[in-house]
Amino acid sequence: MINRLAIIGIGLIGGSLSLALKQAGQVKHVVGYARNEATREQALSLGIIDTAAASIETAIKGADIIVLAVPMGAMASALAEISQHLTDNTIITDAGSTKADVAKAAADKLGNRISQFVPGHPIAGTEKSGPSAAFATLYQDHKVILTPMKQTDTTAVEAVKMMWQQTGAEVTEMTVEHHDLVLAATSHLPHLLSFNLVGLLAQNEDVDEVLRYAAGGFRDFSRIASSDPVMWRDICLSNHDAILTLLQQYQQQLAEIEQAIQKQDGDYLMTLFQSAKTARDTRFEMPKEKD
Ligand code: NAP
Repeated sequence: MINRLAIIGIGLIGGSLSLALKQAGQVKHVVGYARNEATREQALSLGIIDTAAASIETAIKGADIIVLAVPMGAMASALAEISQHLTDNTIITDAGSTKADVAKAAADKLGNRISQFVPGHPIAGTEKSGPSAAFATLYQDHKVILTPMKQTDTTAVEAVKMMWQQTGAEVTEMTVEHHDLVLAATSHLPHLLSFNLVGLLAQNEDVDEVLRYAAGGFRDFSRIASSDPVMWRDICLSNHDAILTLLQQYQQQLAEIEQAIQKQDGDYLMTLFQSAKTARDTRFEMPKEKD
């Protein structure tokens, strides 16, 4: 049971964590911080938080665990603010989609309190944002990855692990570097491709006419292009190395596809499509809900 939980960023991810812990009866009091009063009021009225704080300093006072669930671009400044007021027994974790940047910011900002910080990432979400998008079952049967650093205290890792398990999530651990490579492949590149295709089609004057004939495949592929642009801008800038490596591989393969079509090389396309289908059908374990 967590006595006092401080959530910095009370949108889809922070809000859903609070609702899940409340539903499980595993938290006594949740304090939430967001910059805008309207966000705080909405989180209060939806029962996501018990108290709204207008500053990070107020939000974290007396907290057992602080969860950072702000966009990636706001993590470093939030950590800097937290470091000014952090006490010995408080554990800090985050829910950011990339880990190297947050781990580096934490090392820079938290000094010798870095042992109290456990980087984390719930592999669950939707394309919606803000407190109204939050729901208690978001994390059920989904994975949460923790990426403890060499300085991280093991009791802090255990406490954060337990918190996520109480939401119904399966918690796994990996290194910061491995996390960022894996997520570039499974989440960041697909989002980039979806944003790019939808953006390209939207420039077409006949887009409305084209979309009248869109079927399920386009709906599935384009859904993630309605994700929050701020969040995805921050993720792309943050996980640049892994994303650039994958983009190069992707472009190389795309060039080969282009050549195959030019040469009417059906064998090349058949081999590629067949191996992709076999992998998707037999080896890929897909999450039950969204990304
Ligand atoms: P969200 O729904 O937009 O919520 C973000 C929250 O942070 C809001 O309360 C917002 O309120 C506050 N905020 C925004 N900018 C801020 C700033 N500069 N300083 C302080 N607070 C700020 O976003 P989310 O989807 O929950 O994402 C939160 C984090 O979780 C991100 O780091 C994201 O990478 C990660 N994540 C997202 C998903 C997903 O599918 N959405 C999945 C896994 C992890 P105000 O605007 O009022 O400040």
